[in-house]
Amino acid sequence: MSTTITFHGAADTVTGSRHLLETAGKRILIDCGLFQGPRAIRDRNWERFPVDPASLDAVVLTHAHLDHTGFLPRLVRDGFQGPVFCTPATRNLCAIMLQDSARIQEEEAEHANRHRWSRHDPAVPLYKEEDVQRCLKLMTARTYNEPFEPVPGVRFHYERAGHILGSAFAFAETEAGTILFSGDLGRYGQSIIPDPTPVARADYLLVESTYGDRDHQDVDVPAELERIVRRAVEQKGFILIPSFAIGRSQEVLYLLNDLWIAGRIPRLPVYLDSPMAVSAVPLFLQHTEDHDLEMTALLDTRRSPFEGENIRFTRTRDESKALNDAPGPGVIIAGSGMANAGRIRHHLVNRVPQPSTTVLFVGYQGEGTPGRSVLEGAATFKAFGWEVPIRARIERLDALSAHADRNEMLRWLGQFEAPPKRTFLVHGEPEPRRALQAKIEKELGWSVHRPDYHERVALG
Ligand SMILES: [Zn+2]
Repeated sequence: MSTTITFHGAADTVTGSRHLLETAGKRILIDCGLFQGPRAIRDRNWERFPVDPASLDAVVLTHAHLDHTGFLPRLVRDGFQGPVFCTPATRNLCAIMLQDSARIQEEEAEHANRHRWSRHDPAVPLYKEEDVQRCLKLMTARTYNEPFEPVPGVRFHYERAGHILGSAFAFAETEAGTILFSGDLGRYGQSIIPDPTPVARADYLLVESTYGDRDHQDVDVPAELERIVRRAVEQKGFILIPSFAIGRSQEVLYLLNDLWIAGRIPRLPVYLDSPMAVSAVPLFLQHTEDHDLEMTALLDTRRSPFEGENIRFTRTRDESKALNDAPGPGVIIAGSGMANAGRIRHHLVNRVPQPSTTVLFVGYQGEGTPGRSVLEGAATFKAFGWEVPIRARIERLDALSAHADRNEMLRWLGQFEAPPKRTFLVHGEPEPRRALQAKIEKELGWSVHRPDYHERVALG
């Protein structure tokens, strides 16, 4: 029987990871991501799923980010009933993130109905909270290096990917040989979680290419953060950090905590203004299997990097609004990461007209997002019908990205003892993907393929 992989997403974009593995007469879907970003890409979420969801035997997830998991409730709603495998932290993070995603889908449908701009009449959400509940019941956790068989006779195991809490490479043993699905490849030296596990061999490799044409800033992150905080303290201003709720928010807290312990900055008030980020904090403490040595050592001394008199969690809308009048200095961490949604927009409207404010970008700012335009020097910020002048100082620390950059990708790939028979580059915009292909072919001499959307490749 043949073994094939069909690339039903993340083939020419960085979202919608869905790779269909057909082997031993069975169908296993590796990741089940939501398409995000521009309208034309998001519309793919509404296309008929390329195979009948009921015909899938299992789903294997690499990590909790929505571009890898966010379509799962829809798959379940459309008839998928098989098991979903993931790591323990991924399961717990999915419970938070899919719930939130369903809420957003429902709100958007409601909004469209109110304003009558829907293609569906009436507008319907992609899925609802009840679909998420059914989906969570199908999830089965497997920890790192614990073998499992999503279908009889096809063994899988997970290895640490170093990207976010619970992130893993999925390693499959098929008749055609071993296949490594990288999911998203993490970074070396990230706080809290360990480095990506070195892999010695795989017959076939699917690897992401988000930063295939770029290296992150080569800066001393704690020193930069220290400089930015010290200035804010001097000016009695606020630092506003647009941040993804899971991962980056907790990492920033961790880094600030390190600076406090070292006496490098004063313990100024830090507000984590995101119910989702707050809900995720206990998971970062609980999943010790995902901790690196420093985090383990820190917790051994019974000190949590997420607790302290000066760290305040705000959950309700009223608590968030109350921050409008808080005197500086202080730090507000809030979503969304690209300032196109969420509470950070209120804080930006409120505080960017003040020169004492600093806006600190710690993640990738997609093209066309408000975050990108602020970063590129826009004179004003618009949200909720307001347009305010930007007099705040703009800073960036994209070295806090959770994705490997070009050098780190080559470092990880360079640890293979033998080249894979074929390497498939996924999860990248066209230019980074092409650039990484050229680099791998030149430096490692490997055979690299850039699959098209819906392309099917036979292995073996
Ligand atoms: Zn990811």
